[in-house]
Amino acid sequence: MKLLEGKNVIITGASRGIGKGIAEVFAQHGANVAFTYSSSEAPALALEKDLSAMGVKAKAYKSNAASFEQAEALIAEVNKDFDSIDVLINNAGITKDNLLMRMSEADFDAVIEINLKSIFNMTKAVQRTMLKQRKGSIVNMSSVVGVKGNAGQANYAASKAGMIGFTKSVALELGSRNIRCNAIAPGFIETEMTAKLDEKVVEGWRNGIPLKRGGTPEDVANACVYFASDLSAYVTGQVLNVDGGMLT
Ligand code: NAP
Repeated sequence: MKLLEGKNVIITGASRGIGKGIAEVFAQHGANVAFTYSSSEAPALALEKDLSAMGVKAKAYKSNAASFEQAEALIAEVNKDFDSIDVLINNAGITKDNLLMRMSEADFDAVIEINLKSIFNMTKAVQRTMLKQRKGSIVNMSSVVGVKGNAGQANYAASKAGMIGFTKSVALELGSRNIRCNAIAPGFIETEMTAKLDEKVVEGWRNGIPLKRGGTPEDVANACVYFASDLSAYVTGQVLNVDGGMLT
């Protein structure tokens, strides 16, 4: 069953990892996919081609989610290219881990701007379109670290916890206009990035998870399908942990 047939979706940071997984699963469900990248042009163009071959409309845009002006220009362009926007997935994110003692101001600011300010930029830019349509679904990619905290990730945890407060506030503000806003808190998701880690360390992480495995980008993408589709028509302001039971 195609749950997103005909819906126009924008996903930030889909050139690799979880964002790429979301773009692929959304296209399988019939969504037209606009997506952004920061610097990975070749993988982004390859993904655009693969998604188009699946029979949906797909387009890659180079856009820095941390820039208010670029987010405004991006949404204007996507509205022109796709006519409407039904779903926004705020996925772009970075880490710059360090103990607080060694964390520079620049590394704190960069993580807050790319992870947290970006969702303000994108939501502000898209809200006019969704208000006019009187419908929309916004999904913010938080993290279990935003719920629980993590030593060595004060900047990242603050940005991900901030996303949860933003999500709940937007849900309360825009609910009367049929615009929903939810967050996903992934646990340990295995991507190309984690493939570079020491196998013994990764095995230790897997063993600590009740479901005894790391998550896949598809696991996170399936939760996004739920929030993006009409299956969740009466669900807003929620945080869904996709973590194999890690926080339970
Ligand atoms: P990833 O593999 O590092 O991919 C990050 C994506 O974001 C890339 O497409 C990158 O584009 C894009 N990006 C980075 N900075 C950007 C910017 N300023 N503007 C626009 N796009 C930008 O990360 P991931 O592991 O898939 O994680 C995706 C999201 O899930 C992040 O928000 C992350 O915090 C969250 N998350 C991940 C995990 C995990 O275990 N992996 C767990 C919890 C939460 P380029 O390729 O062009 O740089």
